This record gives sequence, structure tokens and C-alpha cells, in this order.
Amino acid sequence: MTQKKQTSCADAFEADAISVNDAREIITQKITPITKSEKLDLRSCLGRYLAEDIHSPIDVPSHTNSAMDGYAISGDDLPTQSSQSYAVCGTAYAGKPSTNIHKAGHVTRIMTGAVMPKTTDTVIMQEQVEIMGDENVLIKPEHRKGQNVRQAGEDIAKGCLVLSKGRKITPADLGILSSLGLGELKVTIRPRIAFFSTGDELRSVGETLKEGEIYDSNRYTLFGMLKQLDVDITDMGVIRDTQEAIHEAFVKASKIADIVITSGGVSVGDADYIKPTLKALGDTHFWKIAMKPGRPLTFGTLNTSTTAASHASFFGLPGNPVAVMVTFLQFLDPAIHYLASGQTKKPLTLQAVSADDIPKRAGRTEYQRGIFEQTPDGTITVRRTGKQGSGILTSMSIANCFIVLSTESKDISSGDTVRIQPFIGII
Ligand code: AMP
Ligand code: MG
Repeated sequence: MTQKKQTSCADAFEADAISVNDAREIITQKITPITKSEKLDLRSCLGRYLAEDIHSPIDVPSHTNSAMDGYAISGDDLPTQSSQSYAVCGTAYAGKPSTNIHKAGHVTRIMTGAVMPKTTDTVIMQEQVEIMGDENVLIKPEHRKGQNVRQAGEDIAKGCLVLSKGRKITPADLGILSSLGLGELKVTIRPRIAFFSTGDELRSVGETLKEGEIYDSNRYTLFGMLKQLDVDITDMGVIRDTQEAIHEAFVKASKIADIVITSGGVSVGDADYIKPTLKALGDTHFWKIAMKPGRPLTFGTLNTSTTAASHASFFGLPGNPVAVMVTFLQFLDPAIHYLASGQTKKPLTLQAVSADDIPKRAGRTEYQRGIFEQTPDGTITVRRTGKQGSGILTSMSIANCFIVLSTESKDISSGDTVRIQPFIGII
């Protein structure tokens, strides 16, 4: 084995460490969004990304209809000075073609959702009329022409752009699309993600630990986060710390995936083979980010296929379990979103008042684990989970947010305003 240069991992002020924002930008530049699509039935499109713009083929609602149970009337017939009695000339039910013809100076009994009879444009709620025998109602002079009526196309007009290409389909979208009568949609195919752990010390669940060995947890947190993203997942297991094993795993992964994720082996130790293997099989775009945890993150492209369009992107995450989750949420979640939709995405941050003093060195972005709460007056306060080491995975389980301390920020005092990133969505 050749002797490696003894680089220090302790120095946070390295000139070759790029910023979190620059890393996000480079990732977007280097990833080509998926263009291949498939047609799926409406329900199967939930959580998938539209491969086409959706224009409405119809007006929604399709007819002008009543928003209330009551009496339809022409606005011109409404009483202006004093209450007036009107004869009821028929009934209109939802979903049934109206059989009666509305007569001027009369009202038609109407149910919610029924098509407004011709020449009527106003509905009086049934609670607001006085019933005068079987055939007459008394209406007060307090109503407005056009009230309680839903106009055709009021929600969605025929021909308008309803949902744009790249949109991730939500439950509300499923409702909208069904209201347009669309039973099938074109969505982009699922991103294919392959991942494996590296490390001679790692054993999988079910195996017995020998001295110095630990159970592999990164494959489980990665699986959990990927599962929330509706992607095709290939778990390639644990790969041993040899150049040959890692080389072979890279080649295999790059043939079956759009994005290859590894954890461990990206530092400067003698058994860290990820960077040299990426160098041999592709291009490295960056390998160090000014952040904590997550600094030794390697991002590149694997050029093992003959066509540039099918090159896999590569994310070599650090080995420490907290760093894996932090870097996944900061970079991989947006990267996978971009791959599937062509749209960029940044984690949401909110302002909170720190309940703790937090030591912080300028020059790197820190993602401390926090617990936020909302006080009765609406203020959001946040405290730390305790020990912040990048191996303390319980901190991620206890936390409900990251406390994001920007590159410039220095020590935080209790009472200072900080930014938090709530754990919403995938964790
Ligand atoms: P490395 O970057 O490979 O030196 O790993 C950094 C630290 O993370 C070491 O203490 C590893 O034992 C630990 N580690 C690496 N991979 C995993 C894993 N898959 N699960 C749990 N801990 C890991
Ligand atoms: Mg290792």
C-alpha cells in the first residue's frame, strides 16, 4: 500500500471546502432530470412527478349551480322595499335534468348542486324564507343578485393550465384531476437509487458482532428516507474496504441506478477507497463541504456507460450516522427531487429563539439537532438535544429539527434568534 499524505480532518477553515449553497448548485448543474415517462392510472400517480402540463378539458363546475338548498330566483325579481310572496313553480335536484320551466316573478325550489334553471341567477337559503302554505314563500328585501350560486368554470375554466410539468402530485391534485375526468396521466419514471455501506467493521442485522465490529445503521436510515421519496431502491449491502470490492460495486451500481449512494470511506484514512475509485471511473465535482457534520462528502459522476445521458451521479456520504442523515436531507433529497422533476428545492427554515447557549465556530454551516416548541403566544423556541457528536444517532431520533447555524455565525447566546429546519416530509 502506498503511503497517503497525512491530511488533517480537524481544520474547518480549509480553502478547498465549498459552501453548502455552492454544493447544492453544483449538484443541480451536474444532474440531468429524467425525461422518460410512463402512463399510470390516476391513483398510482400520487407522489409522482407530472411529465406533461395539464390543461383542463372542461369547466369545473361544468354548469352554473346552486351552492345552497333553497329557492332560485331571477335577481331582477328580488324584493327591494318590503317582503314579498312568491309562488313556487317547480323543483330542481342535483344531478337530474330540470323538468320545469322557471317562470318570471316565481321561485323554483332548488337543492345544492342542482343546475340553475334558465333565467334564474340567485338563490335564497331555505332558512331565510318564510313558508306560506304549500306553494308560496315570503322573501325579505335583504338579498343580493347572484348570491349562493357557483358559476360554471369558477374553480377551473376549460383550457386553463391546471398543473405544470414537474409537479409532484398531492392528494388535492388527485381530487382536481379526477374532477377533470382524467383517469390516466403521464409521469416521469421513478428515479433508481442504489446504495451500499463500506467498512470492514460493519456487520448486518442478524450477524454476531466480534470485537471492534458494529452493526451497520446507515443502510437502514438511508432506506427509511428513500422509502418516503417513492424511488426504486436497490440495497447492495455492506462492501469490504478493498479497492477491488469497491471498484466492482461502483460498476454494478452505476449500471442499475441514476444515483449511487455510499456511506463511509470518504475521509483521509488508509482504508478510504471511495475517492480513488471515483477518480478511476468518473469525475469528482467536489469532495469537501464547509459544514458540520457532513464535511467529507464526495459528489461526482460515474462514466461507466457509453452514453452520457445514462451516467449515474455519485454521492459518497461520510460514515458517521448523523452525517449520513444530515447530508441526505441537505443534498440528496433536493437532488432526487431535481432528478425526478427538473425543479430545485431547498429545505424550509423558520426563525426560532434559542433557549441554549450554543458554541459555534465561524467558517462552516452547522446542523445541530434541536427540539422546537411553540409557546402559547406563537413564538417558536428551540433547545439542543444534548450531545452533538456525529456518531450520536439518538440525537436524530429525539430531535424534531436542525438548528442551522450559518457559515458567518459565531457563538449563540440564549435568547438569540436562530434558524431551524423542521423535520417535515421525509423524517
Ligand atoms: P469512515 O468514514 O468510513 O471512517 O467512518 C466514520 C465512522 O462512521 C466510523 O466510526 C465508522 O465505524 C462509522 N460508520 C461507517 N459506516 C457506518 C455504518 N454503515 N453504520 C454505522 N456506522 C458507520
Ligand atoms: Mg470506513
